[in-house]
This record gives sequence, structure tokens and C-alpha cells, in this order.
Amino acid sequence: MGLSVLIVDDDDIAGGLSRDLLKDAGMDAELLTNSLRAIDKLREKRPELVVLDILMPGIDGLSLCHKIKSDPELSSTKVVMVSGKSFEADKQRARQYGADLFIEKPYNIETFATQIAEVAHRPAKAGPVAGGEPVPELKSAPDATLQITVWGCRGPAGPKTPPSSQYGLMTSCLAIETGERKMIFDAGGGIVPLGGQLALAGPQELFLFLTHFHPDHTQGLGAFEGVRSSGYTLHLSGAKEPDKSLQDLVTEAIEASLPAGAGVEANIQLHELMEQTYEVAPGVMLTSFYANHPGTTLGFVLESKGRKVVYCPDSELYGEGATALQDYDDRLARLCQGADLIIHDGRYTAEDYRMTKNSGHSSFISAVHMAGKAGAKRLLLFHADSQYPDEVLDRMGIEAARTSAERGYKLDCAVAREGLKLGI
Ligand SMILES: [Zn+2]
Repeated sequence: MGLSVLIVDDDDIAGGLSRDLLKDAGMDAELLTNSLRAIDKLREKRPELVVLDILMPGIDGLSLCHKIKSDPELSSTKVVMVSGKSFEADKQRARQYGADLFIEKPYNIETFATQIAEVAHRPAKAGPVAGGEPVPELKSAPDATLQITVWGCRGPAGPKTPPSSQYGLMTSCLAIETGERKMIFDAGGGIVPLGGQLALAGPQELFLFLTHFHPDHTQGLGAFEGVRSSGYTLHLSGAKEPDKSLQDLVTEAIEASLPAGAGVEANIQLHELMEQTYEVAPGVMLTSFYANHPGTTLGFVLESKGRKVVYCPDSELYGEGATALQDYDDRLARLCQGADLIIHDGRYTAEDYRMTKNSGHSSFISAVHMAGKAGAKRLLLFHADSQYPDEVLDRMGIEAARTSAERGYKLDCAVAREGLKLGI
């Protein structure tokens, strides 16, 4: 028999389906519908992996996950949470309690067994999260005036990209709402589901700002509702290249990503940006600046209602090895001074950065130091390499928070995750 899996679900139809899918994939899967018996059953059967539904009478899945991961005898059991509820707070708790994966119901029956097998074969975490250091998460401000949603936050796919990740695998896209205006930053893969959500409210006027035209920042453009569908007016702002106009860059990016048979129906208005401050809506100031990255690449500082957010996803900080002529880290820290939130390139671990110097991306530790020196309140490490398994990202978050505390920075740090909503 293959991998042994226990499914705990009070619904014997849904649970039975999961069991059958896993059995078909050659696993030794068993269903338990009484969650109160789960811990006894786990001790007796010792499965390698347990699938827990969140909403169950008796004892709920989150409490069970917590129990399993804080029990020294059971903590090495992999835990997959499944739920029809997709509240971010539940996902966060699941992660904090050490769950290895969260799958939303209805799940994809084609990939369910593959996802389970992939989690089962991941190396065990360094230690039970409940007993060790929790993976840090950023907290929203109680009096938030800006709402930030991460729709995509990973680097481009590579040969070792895993099939799934709790941090998501879609490329850069971020939404910032000020109350008066919703602004979208970058058009990586994450902009496609964002477009699906926007479409619920019907055609509208949209504001999109592009940092640059590398494919991982534009690959969602052609499939974006705000480009394809009529009735939309899309204000697209970005910088031109020395040898290419903004119009040409946008046309090429759309053509490269337009799904077969689709056309461009929206009214697209282009706005060329330079290193300058713009009032993009009443009282909303946006400063664009050149980031240290190949080609013309912008970073943005958004200021509204006394809050300051910096978005700079592709940016190479030189860190401790900076030479006398490399003053980019200090320049960026000045721009980021006192920010409530910095969303910055944290693509690599310190070791990997040494091998990839001058590629235009940073070690996450350099981002912590830059944000700490800037006196910022929060740092979201963005654009993590898509080939890192979740364990590496967990460790990056923990190490970032530890470094910030050791250096005495008043800076909360976390690694960005798809679906994250943050009030600032
Ligand atoms: Zn880039």
C-alpha cells in the first residue's frame, strides 16, 4: 500500500469522495466521520498525513490541527486543511498551528491526489511550529485608511517550482484602495483573478501602474478583464524604455499574453511616468522613482491620509557588501523614511544572493536592514523565488523577524502571501 492517509470529515459524501480519489491514486486512505475520535485513531493508525475539514461538530479541524502539531508524538504527521470557508483569518490560523497545506472546497478533483502526495513528500519542517517560532504575519492597523490586497507575489516559474505553495505561485499584482480610489500595481498572473472579482461590479474605470515590462509583471495583461472587455476604461501608467515608447511596450506585452481568440475591447489610456510626484486622485500622491533593476524599472511611494506605502518589487539592494559608489540602499532608505509599509524585493536567501549578485534582486536580509534604517513600521518581503519550497519562505519570515528584533528596529516583517489583505 502507498501513502497512509486519514481523512477526518463529518460529511461522509464529501469525505468519501476525498477517500476514493486518494485510493484511486494508490494511497491507503481511510475516512473517519467522528472528529472526537481523531486523536485516538491517529495514535492507533499512525498515518503519514491527515486531511481535516475545518467545520465539524465535536472538535473543529483547526483545534485538531493545533493538537496534532503540538503533540510530540504526532507532530510529524502532515496536516492538510480543507474547507468551504475561505476566510483569510482561518488560513492564517491554520498556518500558525502548523498546517502543511490549505485547500479550498470545492477542490479540483484532477489535482487533489497530486497535491496530497506532494505535501507528504516534502521534508518535515525544522520542528513543530507550535513548539518553535511561529511564522510571522503582519497585523492590520486598527485605524486603517488604506486597504492592501496581494494578488500575486512570486518570481517567475522555474524548473524547480513546486506544484503548489501556501504563499501562492502567481506573479506580481497588488491592489491598494484609498477609499476614493482603487489602484492596481503590476499585471503579473495575479491580475487575472483580480479582474474576475472586479467584473462582478461590471465595467468600470481602472487605474493600473506598471513598475516595468519584464514578463512576470505583464503576463496577466492580455487575459485581464480590464483589457479584454468593452465598457472598461483602463488608465495604464508606466515608464518608456530609451529605445521604445510606452505604446510599443504595452502593445507587445498585451500581444504576448492575449489568450487565443481574444481581442482588446477596453478603452486604454496611456500615461507616461518619470521620476516625479503625481496627484493621482484628490489627496493621493504617488511618487515614482527608478529602482536598481535591469531596464527602466520604477518603484512607487504612495501617500494618502497620513499613510505611506512603498511598492518596490524588483530592486537590488547591495547590502553589507556595498562599495563606496553603491549608495542605492541609502537612497532607497531615504525614500522609504517613516513608511507604514514597505513592500520590497526579497527574492533570495542571503546564501543564494551571493550567487546571483547583479541580477536585479535582493537578499531578504538586505531588505530588512534597509527598511529598519528607514524607520518603517512594516516590511512585506515580495517576489520570493518561485523555486523555494514553503519551508524556505517560512524560515525567511522567521529570520527576518529575528534580525529586526536583534537590531532593535521597530519593524514587523513577514513574507508576502497571495490573498493577504492588510489595512494600513
Ligand atoms: Zn524584473
